[in-house]
Amino acid sequence: MASSSPFWHPFANMGEPPESRLTIVRGEGARVYDAEGREYVDAIASLWYCNVGHGRAELADAAREQMRTLAAYQTFELYTSPPVAELAERVAGLVPVSGARVFFTSGGSESVDTAVKLARAYWVAAGRPDKNVVLSRRLAYHGMNVYGTSLGGIPANRAGYEPLVSLTEQVPWDDAGALREAIERIGPERVAAFFCEPVIGAGGVVHPPPGYLAEVEAICREHDVLFVVDEVITGFGRLGEWFASGRFGLAPDIVTVAKGISSGYVPLGAVIAGERVAEPFWRPGTDAVFRHGYTYSGHTTACAVALANLDILERERLVERVRELEPLLASALRPLASHPLVAEVRAGLGLLAAVEIRADALAERPGLVVQLAAEARRQGVLTRGLRGVALQVSPPFVVSEAQLDLIAGAFGAALDAVS
Ligand code: PLP
Repeated sequence: MASSSPFWHPFANMGEPPESRLTIVRGEGARVYDAEGREYVDAIASLWYCNVGHGRAELADAAREQMRTLAAYQTFELYTSPPVAELAERVAGLVPVSGARVFFTSGGSESVDTAVKLARAYWVAAGRPDKNVVLSRRLAYHGMNVYGTSLGGIPANRAGYEPLVSLTEQVPWDDAGALREAIERIGPERVAAFFCEPVIGAGGVVHPPPGYLAEVEAICREHDVLFVVDEVITGFGRLGEWFASGRFGLAPDIVTVAKGISSGYVPLGAVIAGERVAEPFWRPGTDAVFRHGYTYSGHTTACAVALANLDILERERLVERVRELEPLLASALRPLASHPLVAEVRAGLGLLAAVEIRADALAERPGLVVQLAAEARRQGVLTRGLRGVALQVSPPFVVSEAQLDLIAGAFGAALDAVS
C-alpha cells in the first residue's frame, strides 16, 4: 500500500505516492497554507464554494453559539428550529422564483437527486405519472449520487456505472433545437423535466451560447416540461448576481443550490421550488406528501452558519464585488490565450473562468492538465483540471486584484514550464 493514511480521496488515484498529497492546514481570505507553512492563492475557492473566503471567525462563532443552544433538531414531519425557518425565508427572498419553497439537503448531489424526485412527485400529484423522463445536457455535472450521475454528461464520470438510471436522456449542450427534437421524439406527455447548469462548471466552465438559456426555457414552457436550473456553483453570487437565473432573466420551476449557501463552512444544500411545483403539496387539505428527506435536511447549526454567511455577503457587498472583479479577472487571464498550448480562455461571467488547453497538445500528452496544475501549485497557486482539458479559476469573492494577477502569472509560468 502506497499511502500511510487510510483516507480515501474522492476522484483520486490512491496508488500515487503519499508525498503527492497536499495537506492544507489554514486559510485566510483567498490564501491557504500547507503543513510546511507554504502560502498559496486559492484560485478555486476550495471546490467552488468558499465564496466569503477562508478563516471567517464570525462563522465559527455562529456555529458555536448555535451548538451551545441547540446543535440540531430533526425536521421530519413538522418539526423545525429557528435558524431553519429563517434561512428558508431569507433564501426565498433572494431567489428569482415566485412563491419559492425551500427544501434543505446537505450538498449539491442530494439537491439534484431531491429535485429529480420532486419533479417526478409533482407530475404524480398533478395526475400525470407518465411524465417521468428527465433530460439533461452533455458536458453537464450534476453531482455523484445515482440520479446526478445519470444526468451527468462527462463520459468519464459515467463509465463503469452504465446502465444508469432509466428514464434519463442527454441532449447536446449547445443546441436548443436538439432539446425540442428530443422532447417531441419522446413525447411531451412523457417528459418531466429538463436540468441545466446556467454555466457548465465541472465540464469546463462553458458559457451558454447566446440566447440558449432563454430558448430552452421557452421550449420547456411550450411543452409543459419543468425547467430546473442547477445553481450549485452559480448560486449565491458567483456570477455577480445572487443567482445566475437572475443574471440571465430566467424563471425556473426548480433551482438546486449548495456550496455558496454556506461558503462550505458547513455542508448544506437546498432545492428551491416555485409556486407551481409546491402547490399540490402545500394546498390546505392536500393528501400529497413529498416522501423524501435526509436526516440533515434543515440541520440547525448548518442553517445558522448559512445565515451568518449571507450576512457577510450582504454587509460586505461581495456579490457586487464579484461584478466589479469580473472584467479584471477576464483581462488578467486574456493574455494566456496567445500561448501556444492554450485553445481558449473562457471568462467574463463573474469570478468563474477556465483556460482550455489545445486538443492536439492533449492528444500528445494526456496528462498535461494535471502537470499544469502541479506546476501552478509550485508557483503558489492552487487550481485543478476540469474534464482533463482545462484549468479552473473560481476564487473567493474577497480575492484582491493583485491575487488575480498572481493567478494569471502562475498559469503563464506553468504553461511555459511544460512547453
Ligand atoms: N451540481 C453542480 C452544478 C455541481 O457543480 C456540483 C458539484 O460540484 C454538484 C451538483 C454536486 O454537489 P456536491 O459535490 O456538493 O454533492
